Amino acid sequence: MERRNTDIDRRCRCVRNGQRGQGPVVYWISRDQRVDDNWALLWAQQEALAQHKGLVVVFSLIPDYLGAASDHYAFMLRGLAGVQKKLQKLQIPFVLLEQSPVEGLPHFLRHIDAHVLVSDFDPLRIKRQWQAQLAKSVKVPLYEVDAHNIVPAWIVSDKKEYAAYTLRPKINRLLDDYLTDIPSLKKHLVDWRQDAESYDWAAYSGLTSSLLSVEEGKFKAGEAKANFAAEVFVSTGLAEYAACRNNPCVKGQSGLSPYLHFGHLSAQRLAWMVSESDLPMESKAPFLEELVVRRELSDNFCLYEPSYDSIAGFPEWARKTLDQHWYDKRDYIYTLQELEQGKTHEQLWNACQVDLVQNGKLHGYLRMYWAKKILEWTPDPEAALECAITLNDRYSLDGRDPNGYAGVAWAIGGVHDRAWRERSVFGKIRYMNEAGCRRKFDVNRYIASVYSTEQA
Ligand SMILES: Cc1cc2nc3c(=O)[nH]c(=O)nc-3n(C[C@H](O)[C@H](O)[C@H](O)COP(=O)(O)OP(=O)(O)OC[C@H]3O[C@@H](n4cnc5c(N)ncnc54)[C@H](O)[C@@H]3O)c2cc1C
Repeated sequence: MERRNTDIDRRCRCVRNGQRGQGPVVYWISRDQRVDDNWALLWAQQEALAQHKGLVVVFSLIPDYLGAASDHYAFMLRGLAGVQKKLQKLQIPFVLLEQSPVEGLPHFLRHIDAHVLVSDFDPLRIKRQWQAQLAKSVKVPLYEVDAHNIVPAWIVSDKKEYAAYTLRPKINRLLDDYLTDIPSLKKHLVDWRQDAESYDWAAYSGLTSSLLSVEEGKFKAGEAKANFAAEVFVSTGLAEYAACRNNPCVKGQSGLSPYLHFGHLSAQRLAWMVSESDLPMESKAPFLEELVVRRELSDNFCLYEPSYDSIAGFPEWARKTLDQHWYDKRDYIYTLQELEQGKTHEQLWNACQVDLVQNGKLHGYLRMYWAKKILEWTPDPEAALECAITLNDRYSLDGRDPNGYAGVAWAIGGVHDRAWRERSVFGKIRYMNEAGCRRKFDVNRYIASVYSTEQA
């Protein structure tokens, strides 16, 4: 028997023990929708080979996931079509269940007499609830692998971190050990399909075919496209990242967040490519700070703060100051619809909103300004939070992500930030305005660029 790879094993934890069936190991693929560089799939294969079992990958498709739009589904399904093709070459079957995991998986697992169930880690509430329900309703052992973070979220910290400065030393202590190259998946030579011939593989297609007909947008989906975009960024964009990332008029950011969000790209692969590049550390460190520390801080926030998308999740000082300014007079108040249509008095904000709707992505610096103005122009912080989350999740291709919930909570509720000079409406929450943007970049040029692409 082959020796187990401990680098794979240490990213996995057992959610519940159970009774192993005679059928295959099942990987319920959810957050990390790729074949290469996927620790959850690697663990599932290692377990299957150790027990001489088949391996099958299952995706559970539901039509209304956290407000995602048809463009997001189309992006995801194109990626999944690539996953299926790639798995086929490795002799690993892929099954798409058009049911929520709690409805579809128990029946599927029973039907194929599954050996164990493996899931990829996700700190969002809906995923934790699904997993908890599955842990109750299935008989097989359930394992969870963090295939999204470099250091698994539960290893880097066992509590909600106050800010980046408290998480950073914890990650840095472990990073040299965890930031490794990633082993490859093997062709899976143990078959299982004879056990499940009667399973209706073709039971899906209605939802998928209608969503796949949505026109492919600006972002081309799938792990091949994602890895190519990562290579281009590391070889041509990384050197200028520190200097240009806060300027929306130049392409200073990597633009990789949709790929990271859907798991088409592994953050560890990207961090590994960056760390192996010949550039000096001054060029690499600012990018690694965002990709590793800030991103893992968002996962930490959502994992340990059950109210990550409500005011109850804000730090005490922020709740107190927002309370004190709850009834301050707002100079402008807009409805969700007015905001959604980019119909405020401020041209820059409207341009941001149009940019977001048009391109499915807003520049990181502008995201901060955009969310802060929502706090200023809605009746109260609760309404602001709801509007910002709704719009971010509805229009951002990378929305519905811990980074989104942490980002909005930072902008509106001071999460991971500190108290600033007190002012109306914001209290001690950090303030941003158009004048500040004008000091950072050419606002008129940005606005013109948004409307010129809108007309094109
Ligand atoms: C109000 C608000 C909403 C946000 N919503 C989202 C969202 O829905 N999805 C999302 O992925 N990010 C979100 N962010 C965080 C950040 O703005 C984006 O991750 C970044 O702009 C994505 O573009 P990029 O990949 O080109 O970033 P780059 O600057 O190239 O960074 C590379 C990667 O590092 C990570 N990263 C960068 N900045 C941050 C940050 N501030 N916090 C956490 N991780 C970071 C991301 O994974 C990003 O893809 C939000 C921030 C704010 C203030």
